[in-house]
Amino acid sequence: MSTAWQDSRTPESEYDASAHPSFDDHARVDMRRDPDTGLQTIIAVHDTTLGPALGGCRMWPYASEYEALDDVLRLSRGMTYKNALADLPLGGGKAVIIADPKTDKSPTLMEAFARHVESLGGLYITAEDVGISDTDMEVVARHTAHVRGIRATGLGDPSPYTAWGVFCAMRAAVRFATGASSLSGLTVAVQGLGHVGGRVATLAHADGARLIVADIDRERVAEIVARTNARVVPVAEIHAVEADVYAPCALGGGLNETTIPDISAEVICGAANNQLRTPADGTALLTRGILYAPDYVVNAGGVISIAPDRPGMSSEDMKNRISRIGDTLTMIFARAQADGVGPEVIADRMAEERIAAARRNRSA
Ligand code: NAD
Repeated sequence: MSTAWQDSRTPESEYDASAHPSFDDHARVDMRRDPDTGLQTIIAVHDTTLGPALGGCRMWPYASEYEALDDVLRLSRGMTYKNALADLPLGGGKAVIIADPKTDKSPTLMEAFARHVESLGGLYITAEDVGISDTDMEVVARHTAHVRGIRATGLGDPSPYTAWGVFCAMRAAVRFATGASSLSGLTVAVQGLGHVGGRVATLAHADGARLIVADIDRERVAEIVARTNARVVPVAEIHAVEADVYAPCALGGGLNETTIPDISAEVICGAANNQLRTPADGTALLTRGILYAPDYVVNAGGVISIAPDRPGMSSEDMKNRISRIGDTLTMIFARAQADGVGPEVIADRMAEERIAAARRNRSA
C-alpha cells in the first residue's frame, strides 16, 4: 500500500490503500497533503450504490498516518451501512484531518479541506464529526457546495438529532431487554459528554434515569453534573460501573476483550462509531447476555437530519422521523434473537440486502 502523501497541486491522483487490513473494496481513497497550509487529510468513499457518499469530517491528532487511514476506512464503511439502514439515498464516505482541533485548526486549514472536497465533484459530501464544529463547516461551505449540516442547508448542527436518536434507541433497547417503557429508575452510564453524549445524558436524566458519567474534559463533566446531579467516575472505570445501560459516546473501539468482561450493564446503547473493536467482540457480548444496540443504527439521527432528501422538514417532524430508529432496532433485536446471532450481524445483513436490491434494480 502506498502511504505517501499527495501534494494538492496534483489533484487528480488517487491512492491504492487496498493493502490496508481495513480496506473493504472502497470506491476511492484520497490522501492529500497541502504544503501551503499544512493540511493532511484522507477522504474515503466506500460505496455509492445508493447515492453520493455522505459522512462527517473528523479532526484528530492521530499518532500515525496508518492509524488515520484505519479510522477513515472503517468509518466510511460504517457510513455505507448506516445510510442504507436509515433508508437514505446516500452512499458512505468519511474524511479525516490529521491535526489537533485545540491547537491546529484555522479557517485557512478548513478552506484547504473544502477545496479538496470540491475537487471530488460531489462524489463525497462532508459534514461535521469529532473535532469539527458547525462554525468550521460554515467556513467549508464558503468554498464547496458539497456540505450538509449547516443552517443554510437545513436544520443545522446534527448533534441534537443524533442525541435524540440515541435516546429513542435506548428506550427501545431497554424495552426489548426488560419490558420497561421508560428509563425511569434505571442507571445509565455515559462515556463522553460532548455534543452528543452531553445531550444523551440530559435526555436520560429528564426521563428519570440516574446517571454515572466520565469524560477526559473536566469542564464538560462539571456542566453535566450541575444539570443532572450525575455521579462522576474516572474514565478508566466508566464501562465497569454497576448500571443498567452503558452508553459509549466518546471514540470507537471501546468494546473489546479488555473491557467486555468488566461490563455489568444489561444493555449497551451509545453514539460512538465503531464501538466493537472486532467482530469477535460482538460475539463476546452475545455470550455474556448483554444486548448490544448496533452503533450505526443507534447514531443515525444526525445523518437523517442532514440528508438532502427532506428539504424544509420541521424540527418536530424530523424528530418523529428519527424516533423510528427505535422500531428498526426492535426489528433487528427480534431477528437476532430468532437467528441466535448478535444484533450487529443482523444490522449488517439488512444493510447489505438493501444495497444488493438497489444493485439488482439498477442492472434490471
Ligand atoms: P465530541 O468531540 O463533541 O465529544 C466527544 C467527547 O468524548 C468529548 O467530550 C471528549 O472529551 C470525550 N472523550 C474522548 N475520549 C474519551 C475517553 N477516553 N473517555 C471519556 N471521554 C472521552 O463528539 P460528538 O459529536 O459528541 O461524537 C461522539 C461520538 O458519536 C463519536 O464517536 C462520533 O463519531 C459519534 N457520532 C456523532 C454524531 C454527531 O452528530 N455529532 C453522529 C454520529 C456519530
